Amino acid sequence: MKLTFLGAAREVTGSSYLLEADGVRFLVDCGMFQGGRETREKNRRAFNFDPATIDFVILTHAHIDHSGLLPRLVALGFRGAIHTTRATCDLLAVMLPDSAHIQEKEAEYENLGRFRQGMTRRGGDTRRTTRDTAPLYTVAQAQASLKRLNAVDYDLEIAPHPQVRCTFRDAGHILGSAIVEVWVGEGSRRRKIVFSGDLGQPARPLLRDPTPIFEADYLLVESTYGNREHKSMAATQDELVEAVNDTIERKGGNVIIPAFAVGRTQDMLYLLADLTRQARIPRLSVFVDSPMATAATEITFKHMALLDAETHELMGRHGGAAHFRKLDFVEDVEESKALNRITGGAVIISASGMCEAGRIKFHLRANLPRRESTILITGFQAAGTFGRRLVDGAKRVRLLGEDIPVRADLYTLGGLSAHADRSALLAWLGHFRGKPRQVFVVHGEDSVATGFAADLQKQFGWDAQAPLPGHSVILD
Ligand SMILES: [Zn+2]
Repeated sequence: MKLTFLGAAREVTGSSYLLEADGVRFLVDCGMFQGGRETREKNRRAFNFDPATIDFVILTHAHIDHSGLLPRLVALGFRGAIHTTRATCDLLAVMLPDSAHIQEKEAEYENLGRFRQGMTRRGGDTRRTTRDTAPLYTVAQAQASLKRLNAVDYDLEIAPHPQVRCTFRDAGHILGSAIVEVWVGEGSRRRKIVFSGDLGQPARPLLRDPTPIFEADYLLVESTYGNREHKSMAATQDELVEAVNDTIERKGGNVIIPAFAVGRTQDMLYLLADLTRQARIPRLSVFVDSPMATAATEITFKHMALLDAETHELMGRHGGAAHFRKLDFVEDVEESKALNRITGGAVIISASGMCEAGRIKFHLRANLPRRESTILITGFQAAGTFGRRLVDGAKRVRLLGEDIPVRADLYTLGGLSAHADRSALLAWLGHFRGKPRQVFVVHGEDSVATGFAADLQKQFGWDAQAPLPGHSVILD
């Protein structure tokens, strides 16, 4: 049988692996490449096979860098089932149409730009000579791809094909995330391949710890933080206590939290509820102002059984509302605008996490010039994003067409990554009893993936390598 690394090879996005054996071909993940202009072409060129020839797809979790090309796969002829956990199905129903909406907007914007260029070049002749860019996929295509989903429970073995069996194990990374154990038969041979998916950091809010796996013939393991350790949860809580108390009690301002809709928003609700219960911060008025974050929070609490025991106790059925003076999920745009008039005492959680889009921009416009307010950064800010400019200490910023002075304080919370750090990755790998025949280190930047593969050779004596993009290996 043959395994091909279509994406997330010496990089962190575009997760997708093609497994081919006599009589069956399937994908594990079908993710979008993200970040930077060159990824647009990579996404368009992503399938060097006919999607109609793929029997089925196994999906580890809902993040767009793992799921984002599914609508395109279906639009280009894939007719099989997409097997994934029940909670992932619910998240995809929100996330794939949202991703499609972004693709449509981007294509529109690009076409408008080209149209304007043409006008200038031809002195006002408005005929279009070049063809319009089509979106990578449309909202209708995203909706169509959802029809191919097959919801699977954790820990139950399924047989997506007569030659293939698989089991989803909780990966503790985001709601619904899975490590997948796959058994593939070819003639008299049967091999077990384990796909780690993205692994969560143990002992973090809400989610359970990644499930230990004990054996594999072949193993693919992520390495996002293969060279780094996260700050401890205790240190992260201390930072949050200081930011909230300093802002709400001493300065009398607002705390503005740009947060990813899935995962980080729910983490923040959990942490704020927990710290209030411990009486380390005052009872707060909290506003979740992002329709996507509200939907993701509803889906999270719908799947209460998947959350860890502490979360059951703390969050109950209402997102921990009992611990807050007020917990408001803002739907209406007018209501969202009204939040800009609050000068103090509010905690506003809004998307996007890197301040690039969404309602967060309006809250930043209102609060960045206020000395008494605080911007609380809770996640990684990629180079070139608005959030990164703030983290880098910009004194003035351009936002929504206005020149805005930055007078608010800026705090950064260190320890809330959804990915296992180096120690946690090694601890998870330490559960393997036998030596896998081969280990493939994926989903890490070039130097991180190769370095981590070298570490695995040294530490465990494993045959580990970081495959190159497009590379195929024969699994015998
Ligand atoms: Zn992920």
